Amino acid sequence: MAGRGAGQVKHVVSPFVGGQSVLAGNYFTSGVLERIKLATLNPGRTGLAALGSDDILWWRVWHIAHELVQQNVKICVLPGARFAPGAPLPPGFPFVWLGVRSASWASIGFFIAEELQFQVTLMEDVGSDIVLWLEVRQDVNTETPALMIGGIYPRPGGDLECWQQILTEFGILKARFPHALILILGDGNVHLSGLVDHNAGCRCLHCRPTKMDRDIGALIQAAGLVAYNPAIPTHSSGTIIDLVLASLSAPIEVSVCQTPVGLSDHELVTVTARLHSKPPTRIQLVGLNGSELPSGLRQ
Ligand SMILES: [Zn+2]
Repeated sequence: MAGRGAGQVKHVVSPFVGGQSVLAGNYFTSGVLERIKLATLNPGRTGLAALGSDDILWWRVWHIAHELVQQNVKICVLPGARFAPGAPLPPGFPFVWLGVRSASWASIGFFIAEELQFQVTLMEDVGSDIVLWLEVRQDVNTETPALMIGGIYPRPGGDLECWQQILTEFGILKARFPHALILILGDGNVHLSGLVDHNAGCRCLHCRPTKMDRDIGALIQAAGLVAYNPAIPTHSSGTIIDLVLASLSAPIEVSVCQTPVGLSDHELVTVTARLHSKPPTRIQLVGLNGSELPSGLRQ
């Protein structure tokens, strides 16, 4: 096992943190989270597997963290994370891990900026090893989430069953939290035809999708969701598979960071979510006997 002496930690850390404050970027107003930058990064074939020593794992996670901090990303979905049980994050790492601990590629997790960890909860009654849902509250005292984030990793080759699960759970959560913004990020392993504007006759996987890809695309559309990716490949194969989905009625701007991160063959894909405080619902204003609470008791 690799040693974890102070010298080695310094060696691993120093090329990437460069004196930056991890708290750079003011995204709170009056203590309430109003916008938050999210990302998805498939860390590549070996994921965050330790590859024989903590030093290599730590080099990779620092490389990823450096880019996330640079871009002010606060929550990053890691499809195919392969973050093994017991694998350590480096001392002083600015993100906490939330998700499945598994050496298997069929696993997913999140890096959560540590200052947000008490506002973010992993939902336990929905999801699986490859579909996880996070609730994000605007401040630590709020109970109802303002943002729900689905992290997804359907299997390569077109995973209709997983997509059905994602979209069913999206419907459930939309009904349960009608005021929350719901975004779905991850490696969708599907080639949606609407994402590119290629010449007629192009034979790429987006222009000539398989029946499976067409079926999944139809399900996404039927759920009222849209992949808002720009026409920029997210994988070294030239395809757009790392997706950000949101409701048709709530367009968002998605960016693709075209510098390699953490030795992955996938790009980092980012989006900024804007959260809106909702007025208290009617139910909260009405007393047990159905009468309006005195105005003095309203929050
Ligand atoms: Zn094409």
